[in-house]
Formats: sequence, structure tokens, C-alpha cells
Amino acid sequence: MATIVKCPTCQTEVVWGPEAAFRPFCSDRCRLIDLGAWAAEEHRIADKSLQDQPLTEQQLTELDELFAGQDAEFFKD
Ligand SMILES: [Zn+2]
Repeated sequence: MATIVKCPTCQTEVVWGPEAAFRPFCSDRCRLIDLGAWAAEEHRIADKSLQDQPLTEQQLTELDELFAGQDAEFFKD
């Protein structure tokens, strides 16, 4: 009796067996889409952890200069 699984990417039914080369995916395309989704997710988490890092002295100095410049513009008139 064949075991049927659903492709995680497109929900197509796949017969689980040696002939289903990309199981549980229905095709290489769906397998790559799923891998790509994982990679994107990891990339997003990496970005977030970067944002959680405290600012460096250099970044603080640049922000100070940015705000100082805006104040000068604001008081010009
Ligand atoms: Zn599929």
C-alpha cells in the first residue's frame, strides 16, 4: 500500500517511494522553493540580531552630527 504525502510547497500529492526522487516534494522546483524560504528566514533572523547590537561610538558620533545639522537647518529661518 502506497504512502501518499503532500508536497510542503504546493500541496500536490506525492507517492512516497524510490521513484519519488524529491520526496516529500513533488519536484526539484518545489524543493528549491522550500530551501529558499528557509534561507530567507535565516537571513531575516540574522538581520534582526544585527539590529539588536548596541551602536558603536562611530555610529553615535554620526547620529550626533546628523541631528546637529538638522538643528542648524531648523534655526536658520
Ligand atoms: Zn510541489
